[in-house]
Amino acid sequence: MPKQIVIGREGNQPFALNDPKVSGRHAVLIVHENGALQLADTNSTNGTFIYNGHAFARIMPGKVYNVSPDSMIRLGPETQFHVRRLIPKPVKDPPISPERPKRYDISKLRLLYDDYHEKKINLDSKSDSINGMRSMIMLISMATGGCSGVLADLFGLSNNKLMSTLLGVGIGLTLVIVLNYVIKSRQEKVRRDRQANEHDFAVNYCCPGCKLPFKGKVYENILAEGKCPKCKAEYYESHR
Ligand SMILES: [Zn+2]
Repeated sequence: MPKQIVIGREGNQPFALNDPKVSGRHAVLIVHENGALQLADTNSTNGTFIYNGHAFARIMPGKVYNVSPDSMIRLGPETQFHVRRLIPKPVKDPPISPERPKRYDISKLRLLYDDYHEKKINLDSKSDSINGMRSMIMLISMATGGCSGVLADLFGLSNNKLMSTLLGVGIGLTLVIVLNYVIKSRQEKVRRDRQANEHDFAVNYCCPGCKLPFKGKVYENILAEGKCPKCKAEYYESHR
């Protein structure tokens, strides 16, 4: 839809026209969507003129004339101006500042990465030693059974075969139960520590810009790639 700018003392042009020789609705400027401009005199009293390079020529009322922003027009005998003054300035889009990618010092991620792996190795060796204890239980309970005779002697019960056997079995069982309990609770602690370690790493080992998780990606690779695949933030490492 072409836009119409009514020119006159009662017009909607961007500046006031107070010349009494200009009609209330003197002329109209048609602004086409492609930027083409046309001027028409709307039966003004004193006429509309377009400068043709030599002189102002009066235009026929009701007929449209092509003009350009540089065309000089005159309303009546005195008021003249360039067509461009009628055109509201296009609202300039704020210059698209190429958004500079954010930069992040990711040296704390190196600490996180190292810390995670150190903890992981520690927990692995702990769980290895717990497994070692488990197999020791078997040995201890067997040995205890075997030593029952010796123990029975110590308690002066060597004469009583039944008592010495019961004592051996009792001590063996007690040891197995106690050690099993110790192992269970240690295993549980290792399991919880491992879970916390994995959780902390998964949550904190991520892009400082958009929190994209790195999912255990090797730190050196992240640093080498130098930027986030998602938010394009740039990574660097401050000198340690
Ligand atoms: Zn990111």
